[in-house]
Amino acid sequence: MTAPHWLYENFEPAGSAIGYRVTRKLDEVQSPFQKIEVFESTDWGNVMLIDGAMMVTTRDNFLYHEMVSHPALFTHADPKHVVIIGGGDCGTLREVLRHPGVEKAVQCDIDEQVTRMSEKYFPELCESNGDARAELLFDDGIAYMKHCAPGSLDIVIVDSTDPVGPAEGLFNKSFFESCFRALKDDGILVQQSESPLVLLDLIKAMRAEMGKAGFSTFQTLPFPQPCYPTGWWSVTLARKGQGFEFREADAAAKPFPTKYYTADIHRAAQVLPPFVAEALGEG
Ligand code: SAM
Repeated sequence: MTAPHWLYENFEPAGSAIGYRVTRKLDEVQSPFQKIEVFESTDWGNVMLIDGAMMVTTRDNFLYHEMVSHPALFTHADPKHVVIIGGGDCGTLREVLRHPGVEKAVQCDIDEQVTRMSEKYFPELCESNGDARAELLFDDGIAYMKHCAPGSLDIVIVDSTDPVGPAEGLFNKSFFESCFRALKDDGILVQQSESPLVLLDLIKAMRAEMGKAGFSTFQTLPFPQPCYPTGWWSVTLARKGQGFEFREADAAAKPFPTKYYTADIHRAAQVLPPFVAEALGEG
């Protein structure tokens, strides 16, 4: 590739595509699980795709990484032990470890190659990988959660690819049952929950599977994410029985910098637009 050209990710469910002007392909690896590609773009820094689906860009990954971690960590009363399933680019791990109260954060991604590519092309996301509280495992998250000690975790964050291929089993009752068992009674499960504009049925189905696994309260938080299909994304929090008491004063006084997440943004994200609230039975 010599001159800049346009790289598109087509999104069939919405009949739309998102494109980037890229200057060259920096790397490509076919792992046993998926094809990982990294391109250099003219305006978005480096961009990483897995099986043709956009995962991370240098320019906008902070939106997703901050929203998949801080709302749950500022909702749980005292999160100490966090597990991240997927998340191989390590950006979520970095955000989780910004919380001084976290004593241990395990990241379990099925594909070591994603982390190796991130270390090379997104080093800023990997800057906490050497933290003494971090443990990086390369294993199937489904098996990992199945074998976790019951009642041992405060937060499980599922930072996965879309529910196809190796991530398909991260969206069903059996996986959520493992999470339910591994979480303490006041634990929180967080799942990246796709686009609230066009994948509301998926969010509903996912919440139903979480419900069948024993979770009884849910909170879906939308946020902008330009590099993901439709530009609008969400995370869903699930809990056993109790509500979501946001530690707003702690969030307002957080001892670390963020680029998107603030106490006000968190509060605002809890307000669902009417069409989303209605579809999720919260209208
Ligand atoms: N933020 C991204 C998104 O929403 O598109 C996800 C990024 S993260 C790189 C997704 C990770 O999930 C990938 O590195 C992939 O290897 C991992 N993954 C997929 N299936 C998995 C499984 N069964 N167990 C553990 N990790 C898995």
